[in-house]
Amino acid sequence: MNVILTKEELRAHLAELRGSVGFVPTMGALHEGHLSLVRAAREDNDYVVVSIFVNPTQFEPGKDFDTYPRTLESDCELLKALGVDVVFAPKISEMYDTPRPLSSRTKITPSAVAELWEGEVRRNHFEGVCLVVSKLFNLVRPTNAYFGEKDFQQLAVISDMVRDLDMDVAIIGRPIVREESGLALSSRNSRFSAVQRLKAAAIFEALSEAVAFNKEGECNAEKLVAGVVDYLTDIFGSDIKIGYVAIVDSHTLQPVSIVDSRSRLLVSVELFGVHLIDNLAFR
Ligand code: AMP
Repeated sequence: MNVILTKEELRAHLAELRGSVGFVPTMGALHEGHLSLVRAAREDNDYVVVSIFVNPTQFEPGKDFDTYPRTLESDCELLKALGVDVVFAPKISEMYDTPRPLSSRTKITPSAVAELWEGEVRRNHFEGVCLVVSKLFNLVRPTNAYFGEKDFQQLAVISDMVRDLDMDVAIIGRPIVREESGLALSSRNSRFSAVQRLKAAAIFEALSEAVAFNKEGECNAEKLVAGVVDYLTDIFGSDIKIGYVAIVDSHTLQPVSIVDSRSRLLVSVELFGVHLIDNLAFR
């Protein structure tokens, strides 16, 4: 496995390859959620490239960019064991090496699916995601790129960007990997104490309960959302700040009033000071 730090070396290395390239962009601190994407990429492609880059342009000022977990060495061990060919782990100065301040560089305005939800609670987040992902696509030129449904809105934003800008890459969405408790795996879970981590499973319980009520016949989105909000505030009180609980059309990401099989339940919270998102399908 080659661990590559510069764009030049990456380009030179990839130019030699003949065959399909599967690409998994990540911010590192890898867990089974990331690894499920890598395994899918390994199965589908001749070569697998994983990027590890904590992208400053998708963090809001004052949020957790500085404290985001960074574990490059152990990440590389995990990736090597899965048969990854290339890890691209550039420094910020390498990735954003043009001599202009970030604010005066080319920007990508994401499609309308970015407007609500994470787009509202984290200003410019998806602009930052689109910028780094398109730079990475231009560098890696993957055949297939793998993203988790954990970041459901991000998957929609990237799919729209690729379609709207005629980028020559297939976007492949993969299901959420959860802990046994139901908590969606996230690099940020490492911030919880053991007790907090167990308690955090209540987020999945709240979502599952809404889906169960829907199966029993409740289709009113407002009622189901209120049920989730009540469940979370009852359990966590002042330990939780709810960013949003929403039921949306899974293609447009617009809120719906009547739930059907195309609907998706999205939640974003700050729990014990840690930003978490999760989502569940109504099927
Ligand atoms: P991140 O390192 O958080 O930027 O995530 C990199 C990729 O891994 C994104 O496509 C995420 O959606 C995906 N991912 C993160 N957590 C999970 C999970 N629990 N299950 C599946 N995919 C995930």
